[in-house]
Amino acid sequence: MPQTKEPRKRTPPEVELSVLEQSRRRCALCFHLNGDLKEKHGQIAHLDDDRANYSEDNLAFLCMEHHSLYDSKTSQHKNYTIQEVKRARAALHEAISLGQHVVSAALPAAAEKLYDLQISALHELRRALTKGHYEINRRARAIMPLTEEEYRTQVEVHEFNFLDAMTMAEIYLDKDTLDLMRAVLGSLRQMCTSIWLRLPPVFEAKGKYADPQLTEPDWKLFTQSFEAAKAALASLLNPPNASGA
Ligand SMILES: [Zn+2]
Repeated sequence: MPQTKEPRKRTPPEVELSVLEQSRRRCALCFHLNGDLKEKHGQIAHLDDDRANYSEDNLAFLCMEHHSLYDSKTSQHKNYTIQEVKRARAALHEAISLGQHVVSAALPAAAEKLYDLQISALHELRRALTKGHYEINRRARAIMPLTEEEYRTQVEVHEFNFLDAMTMAEIYLDKDTLDLMRAVLGSLRQMCTSIWLRLPPVFEAKGKYADPQLTEPDWKLFTQSFEAAKAALASLLNPPNASGA
C-alpha cells in the first residue's frame, strides 16, 4: 500500500547539532567503504526514509553522493541497507572518539615531510662519512699537509663536516647506529690528531710526538669503524625488506 510522505517536519536543531558533532561532518559510508575520514559536503540522511522520524538513531551524516545513492530507488545495484549504514556510523563515531579524523588529516603531509628530512639527513651523513674517510685516509697515508692551513682545509674540515652531518641525522638514528657513528667520530679525531702531529712545524717544535699513543694511528680500527658505519647507513637508506614485495 503506497504511503504518502508526511509533510516534512524539521529536525530539531539540538538533534541536528548532535549528529553533526558526532560525525564531525565525516560521511559514514565514505569511512566504511574507503577509510576516508575527510570532511565532506553532505546532508543528514533519514535512514528509514521517513523524514518525520528524527530520532537520532534514524539519522546519519552522508556526503552528497552517498546520500543520493542511499535514497535512490531506481538503482540497479543492491543498495546500501539501513543496518549497513548504522554499522558504518557506529564505526565512524568510534574512530572520531579516538581522534583518528584529526590524525589522518595531519599525518600524510607530516609523515612525508619527516621522511624527506630523514632521508636527506642520512644521505648527508653518508656523504660526509665517505668523503671524510677517503680524504683523511689519503692524507694520513700519502699526501701530508705541510702547513697548519693546509691541515685545516684538507683534514680538519672533514671532521667538522662529519660532526655537522651527524648532528643533523642524530634524531633519526637508533641507538646502535648512533653508537657506530660516535665510534667513527672518535676514529676520525684520532686520525686528525695523528696527522696534525706529523705536520713539519709541529714535529719540529716538539722534536717528537707529544703523545706516544698517537704516533701510530689505529688503521684497523679506523677502517673497521667506517665500514660498519657505512653498512648501517646503507641499510637505513635501503631497508632490506623494502625492496621485497
Ligand atoms: Zn560518502
